[in-house]
Amino acid sequence: MSNSFKDLHNIDVQNRTILLRGDLNVPAQDGKVTDTSRIDRLKPTIDYLRGQNAKVLVLSHFGRPKGMIQDKYSLSFLPPVLSKQWGVNVKFASDCIGKAVEDIELSMNYGDVALLENTRFHPGEEANDPEFARKLSMLGDIFVHDAFSAAHRAHASTEGIAHYLPTAAGFLMQEELNALNIALENPQRPVMALVGGAKISTKIELLENLIKKVNFLVLGGGMANTFLYAVGVDVKDSLREADMRDTALRIIEKASQTGCGLILPVDVVVAEKFEAGAPNRMCGIREIPDGHMVLDIGPQSIDIVKEKMAECKTLVWNGPVGAFEIEPFDIGTTDLAEYAAELTEQGKLKTIAGGGDTVSALDHAGVKGKFSYISTAGGAFLEWLEGKTLPGVAALTAYQDAA
Ligand code: AMP
Repeated sequence: MSNSFKDLHNIDVQNRTILLRGDLNVPAQDGKVTDTSRIDRLKPTIDYLRGQNAKVLVLSHFGRPKGMIQDKYSLSFLPPVLSKQWGVNVKFASDCIGKAVEDIELSMNYGDVALLENTRFHPGEEANDPEFARKLSMLGDIFVHDAFSAAHRAHASTEGIAHYLPTAAGFLMQEELNALNIALENPQRPVMALVGGAKISTKIELLENLIKKVNFLVLGGGMANTFLYAVGVDVKDSLREADMRDTALRIIEKASQTGCGLILPVDVVVAEKFEAGAPNRMCGIREIPDGHMVLDIGPQSIDIVKEKMAECKTLVWNGPVGAFEIEPFDIGTTDLAEYAAELTEQGKLKTIAGGGDTVSALDHAGVKGKFSYISTAGGAFLEWLEGKTLPGVAALTAYQDAA
């Protein structure tokens, strides 16, 4: 792969038909979109393409229809929402290849936008079938990839198509890549990674990559229990993965070899039940009472992390440090999030967060707009933290590399 991919400013999109891959796999309930973030973050690319008088055909997946047409996974409910958020009347094509798209395109003027039906209605999408990718590519002149959050999948509309058409990264893709570059590839040091969440089994590769790259690794949440357990702390009824003991010890060992400072909780908040308002208390990690489970980090641990955070220039955050959905076990996560936001606002810290529950945890803490960057991606953000090359990102240069 050559290093540089094209962005929208160095590809001529004027009066062209653009196939724009977005990620419109939005959260929805009873046909209503419950969070428009992904739609809103595509708007700058839509606006630019329309400003260049391009015809824009938007490709996306939605849910997991497994290569079959299933009404409940149709994207047909979205055009009214897109029209409202993007300020343009968005048309809809009942398929993403063939005549349905050709007809819509004929009806479009330059500057118009149409959404194409769920790419995953075709088995060729997830199989990354070259023939299906070629059929997609035949509908436009240029491919604009703006779905970083789907770039960890080598599917026809995220990877395969880029072999057949001149390709450029959209603004959101570029923003995501810049932020991740600031976080890990070229960061201002010291760098702190804060990793929480339930389990280490889903984050082993991520932890192993991070200890090679960051100066401090803070562990919280259920996964910290497994580390404490591995070093001989009796975590009583806490969530832990006993079979991950050796993995945790290996990570601790490697961290000491790479000079990465591992920060584990020294005190915790415990309760007998995982319930809102359950009677709870604070204690040192070696004083967890029988019948209790750890549900958050304690005040001393929070202070230790804050002190280190104040020395850092970059923070990468994935995963809550406690069971933040249930009060008062959100205190650790909220307190650290507020402090990180404060340092960001003072210009002292670059804060980059992403992955699954992290965004809701930061939203809950009221700091979502105050971090330097919050990724829209879940799985793709995690795979990037694991140090993997994402196929959808590698594909940005596929066409020019082949030329
Ligand atoms: P993940 O998806 O791996 O990032 O995990 C997020 C989940 O971890 C959230 O639903 C939290 O409630 C949960 N969690 C965090 N800390 C704990 C803990 N100490 N015990 C149980 N669950 C936790």
